[in-house]
Amino acid sequence: MSRPVTIVTGGSRGIGAATCTRLAADGHDVVVGYVSDSAAAERTATTVRGAGARCVTVRVDTSDEDDVERLFDTAADRLGSVTGLVNNAGVTGPLGRLADASTADLRRVVEVNLLGTLLCSRRAARSMAAWGSGAIVNVSSAAATLGSPGEYVHYAATKAAVDALTTGLAKELGPDGIRVNAVAPGVIDTEIHAAMGDPGRPERVASSVPLRRAGQAGEIAAAIAWLMSPEASYTTGAVLRVSGGR
Ligand code: NAP
Repeated sequence: MSRPVTIVTGGSRGIGAATCTRLAADGHDVVVGYVSDSAAAERTATTVRGAGARCVTVRVDTSDEDDVERLFDTAADRLGSVTGLVNNAGVTGPLGRLADASTADLRRVVEVNLLGTLLCSRRAARSMAAWGSGAIVNVSSAAATLGSPGEYVHYAATKAAVDALTTGLAKELGPDGIRVNAVAPGVIDTEIHAAMGDPGRPERVASSVPLRRAGQAGEIAAAIAWLMSPEASYTTGAVLRVSGGR
C-alpha cells in the first residue's frame, strides 16, 4: 500500500516540527512548510528522513494564494498525491489589549490564521476530492473558547473561526471521504511566546493549568497524528482540546 503524503504548514518549528517527526514515525511521507527559517525546516527534514520517510521542504506564506498553490503542486510533483494536510502555521502578534493593537498586526493575524487556513483547505479539498479520500487537521487553540482578554482577543477570534471552519468543512467534505478535525492546544512550550514578547509565559501560567504545567509540542503532535490516522476513521468535525484541563 502507498504511504500517506501529508503537508504540515509551519513544520519548521514548535508544534509543526513535532508533528512532522511524529507523522514520519507513523509512516507518512512529509512536506515541511516554512515561511522564513530554512535552517529549522532542514533540521526537521533531517529528522523526518532519519525515520525512513521521504520529505521535501517548501517555503510558503500560507496567506499568499500563489504560494499555497505552489506548495501543493510541489508536494504532488515530488511525493505524489497529497492525502493529508495539517493547517498548523499561526501567529499571534504582540501580547496586549485590543485597544493597543495596530491594524497591521490585526490584519496579519487574520490573514495567516484564517485566510491561510482557508486557502490551504480549499486546495486540499480540490485535490483530495479528486483522489476520493483524505484527512485535514486544523491547529486551533484553547483561546477560541477562553477569549484571551488582555492578551490577544483578535487571535482568539481567528481560532474560533477555525473551529467553525472545521465544523462546516467536515460536513461539506464527509461525502467525499475527507475527514476534517481540529486540535485546540492550551499553553505549549514553543518559541511562539517569545515571538509575542513573553518568553516566560509557559512557566508563568503553569499554576493556572489544572495539570500544573505547560504542554510539550509532542503531546499536541500525538493528538494530531491520531486524528490523521485510520484509528480516527469515524471522527470528523471534532475539536479535540489538549490543554491540561484549561
Ligand atoms: P512557533 O513555534 O512560533 O512556530 C510557528 C511556525 O509557523 C513556524 O514553523 C513558522 O515558520 C510558521 N509560520 C509562521 N507564519 C507563517 C506563514 N505566514 N506562513 C507559513 N508558515 C508560517 O508556533 P507554535 O507554538 O508551534 O504554534 C503552532 C500552531 O499552534 C499555531 O497555529 C498556534 O496558533 C497554535 N497554538 C500554539 C500554542 C502554544 O502555546 N504554543 C497554543 C495554542 C495554539 P518559520 O519557522 O519559517 O518562521
